[in-house]
Amino acid sequence: MAKKQVYFFGGGKADGNAKMKELLGGKGANLAEMAKLGVPVPPGFTITTEICTHFYENKRTYPKGLKEEVEKAMAKIEKLMGKKFGDPENPLLVSIRSGARRSMPGMMETILNAGLTEKTIVGLIKQSGDERFVYDAYRRLIMMYSDVVMEKAAGIEPKDDEGIRRQLERIMDKVKKEKGCKSDTDLTAEDLKKLCASFKAKVKEVIGKEFPDEPNKQLWGSINAVFASWNGKRAVSYRRIEGIPDEWGTAVNVQTMVFGNMGSDSATGVGFTRNPGNGENDFYGEYLFNAQGEDVVAGIRTPAPVNEYSKSEHNKELVTLEKAMPKIYKELFTIQKKLEKHYHDMQDIEFTIEKGTLYMLQCRVGKRNGPAAVQMAVDMVKEKLINKEKAVMRVTPSQLDELLYPIIDPKVEKTHKPLAKGLPAGPGGACGQIVFTANDTVEWAKQGKKVILVREETNPEDVEGMRAAEAILTARGGMTSHAALVARGWGKCCVVGCGAMHVDYAKKEVHVNGKVFREGDWLTLNGTKGNVYEGQLPMMDASEENELLSAFLKICDAVRKLGVRTNADTPEDAKRARGFGAEGIGLFRTEHMFYGKGSDEPLFVLRKMIVSKTEDERKKAIEELYPYVKKDIKQTLEAMDGLPVVIRLLDPPLHEFVPRDPAKLEELAKDLNISMEELSNRADTLHESNPMMGHRGVRLGVTYPEVSRMQIRAIFESAAELIKEGKKPHPEIMIPVICSESELADQWAITQEVYKEVLGKYGLRKIKYMFGTMIEIPRASLVANKIAALAQFFSFGTNDMTQMGFGFSRDDIGGFLPEYLKKGLLKDDPFQTLDQEGVGELMRIGIERGRKTRKDLEVGICGEQGGDPRSVDFCHRVGMNYVSCSPFRVPIARLAAAQAAVVNKKK
Ligand code: PEP
Ligand code: MG
Repeated sequence: MAKKQVYFFGGGKADGNAKMKELLGGKGANLAEMAKLGVPVPPGFTITTEICTHFYENKRTYPKGLKEEVEKAMAKIEKLMGKKFGDPENPLLVSIRSGARRSMPGMMETILNAGLTEKTIVGLIKQSGDERFVYDAYRRLIMMYSDVVMEKAAGIEPKDDEGIRRQLERIMDKVKKEKGCKSDTDLTAEDLKKLCASFKAKVKEVIGKEFPDEPNKQLWGSINAVFASWNGKRAVSYRRIEGIPDEWGTAVNVQTMVFGNMGSDSATGVGFTRNPGNGENDFYGEYLFNAQGEDVVAGIRTPAPVNEYSKSEHNKELVTLEKAMPKIYKELFTIQKKLEKHYHDMQDIEFTIEKGTLYMLQCRVGKRNGPAAVQMAVDMVKEKLINKEKAVMRVTPSQLDELLYPIIDPKVEKTHKPLAKGLPAGPGGACGQIVFTANDTVEWAKQGKKVILVREETNPEDVEGMRAAEAILTARGGMTSHAALVARGWGKCCVVGCGAMHVDYAKKEVHVNGKVFREGDWLTLNGTKGNVYEGQLPMMDASEENELLSAFLKICDAVRKLGVRTNADTPEDAKRARGFGAEGIGLFRTEHMFYGKGSDEPLFVLRKMIVSKTEDERKKAIEELYPYVKKDIKQTLEAMDGLPVVIRLLDPPLHEFVPRDPAKLEELAKDLNISMEELSNRADTLHESNPMMGHRGVRLGVTYPEVSRMQIRAIFESAAELIKEGKKPHPEIMIPVICSESELADQWAITQEVYKEVLGKYGLRKIKYMFGTMIEIPRASLVANKIAALAQFFSFGTNDMTQMGFGFSRDDIGGFLPEYLKKGLLKDDPFQTLDQEGVGELMRIGIERGRKTRKDLEVGICGEQGGDPRSVDFCHRVGMNYVSCSPFRVPIARLAAAQAAVVNKKK
């Protein structure tokens, strides 16, 4: 049997269901599911995504049998509705919409009111008794059809502002002006009738073809155009940004038209089963009386709130649906609850009320910002609507990032009066210079500027600019306008519907409450509250004390298998990371105590040690250095009391520590009691051609065992003192940059010696510790079986492993990486995201061989990739014990580890 190409839904039945998103697209699958659930859905059918693929693979033609299947489905609709497509007496009208596997709001095309012709107009007037409504529907059809089908799908690319839609809009504006009408609704039936005639004449004049007066021509023209819009400019841009594959294709949904613009007992609206801005469990929505759906999403009129809860500064004067149509509201409320319960997730719904009858046009999983996603996940677990595993999959790593996003310093914000207020469409704060076009945004952002894109109204064609902007600000539109949906999906700071604002594109100015701001002027936005401020307000990192975040991360902790540690170099970092939930330190880089605040004195002594010539000189310097090293180590072990702390022995690029400042050099020479000439000679001998492969890591400990001895003593003595103070220190001594087991044996001998001495000194029988190594040289992975004989743990240093695996200098990759990425020679920067195929394979080998020798070998990662979600997934799959990353990335790593546990369990 030939493959089914068309899936019918309606009358309480459907050929498809919600699981068939790949074939029917999100919209089609959900329409089918809703129909099956008994929700009132206008009947229709879905042409599958496979037809889209066929369309593009076969010079924009359709497979055999499609026409017949469409005809059959049309007949079914006609039977259910008791109307006929093209019937002059009782005509059926349909909408034709796109619907990909994943929602792409506003990125593809829609045609409404197809089936209206000179003949059927008469029938519809008879049927509806409303001539004005019919001509209004007709002028909308002409506008959409000429724009989408006759122009865009035909590949005509008019100059800016010269598109057919703009030209028709100008005609309409002129008529409105002549008639003194403020709004479209003030135009009479007669006005609209004339307008339709002028529209058709204009279409003929501009495009050179008649607007088709045949229902089936309109239907197939529209189907064609929707398939074509899959490869339209903005859809392609959006797919590139969102990583949606080109091969997916879109489905096409043909559905009975129902009208929200049939008078005062008709309306149309959109809603969310929970608040997409903050996650509160309340029905949130907007509607417009006597309007069609496009009026709501296009943000042309300000929609009214469906209930008290949905009221905002912006719309609080308008009458709620609950008050205006209590019975319908109740029905709508019950349906939205039913849908959320059925789908176990927040739904984004579209509805239309036609002459007092409610229809559901769409439902899909609602986009939400980060804070809302986290709130809903936590609440839904509490409500037992979802389990913990589902909850961790409900929040993406970048959404979680939003809770850690910068905000305007609240203290400063309090002292500033907002310049204007809009709707809080995207979270966090942002400040930037204003520009007025998407292209300028992209240009300015390229120059490294922080830009706020300011627009009068939302326009999906601005998608590239919206992406490049720091934030988006619009004068019109509601929470469900395109800008709001898209920005929320990206977690970008966004304020919409800022009514006090008027944009003058020609002058590149925006007028707000009597003030004028020009291109390049600074504004600051609070996207969580919807406030707009003049100038640059200071920004702050989001609070570390966030109860909601903690509750969510606890859920993640219950699901994940991987441990999460942190790379911390100071006791302060360690404390902060513990606050973020780090379960220990995966890398404490000892040499970092010689950089930054308060490092002058220890740095001076370190320099002395580095330029020492004799053992005596060195020993003296080391003795002087000891108290500094011990203090840092002890404080860090204390901050992480009860948790493991991996302390890496010194791995410094020696030459970097030689002072350049003559005054400092002189001071050093004086202290060492040598001449400047002698000091300069000693410094010269430290020079290396390739310091990254030079005298670093374990090589330093091998040549100067007393340096290792001093550090190991500092570790054991810190631990011993803490034990005496009743604490539970757990140091893990890590030897860096090894390539053979013999290097490790060399350092192991020192460790054992010092251990015994310290036990004796403190009268202790045991100090709990581990001895292990970094695996960062490819050879070390290959001989991991031998290394594991001594090492109790491995920590993969994937910064160096990537450097040596690829042969790319980690310090100089900037010179060629952009070109590699642009040409697609590399998919990602391997220093940010693990190269699983190559470096990952080295790691796999290291783990496998290491564990062959030592079954309980502890394995972690401490390279920068340890906080990257995709790399975390890899670490889970290769059976590591933990990942370690910078303190601020710890929450993301906890989430990524939980998601890795869920995703890989499913496989
Ligand atoms: C590494 O090489 O991955 C590592 C963590 O060490 P460093 O970055 O200090 O060389
Ligand atoms: Mg390294």
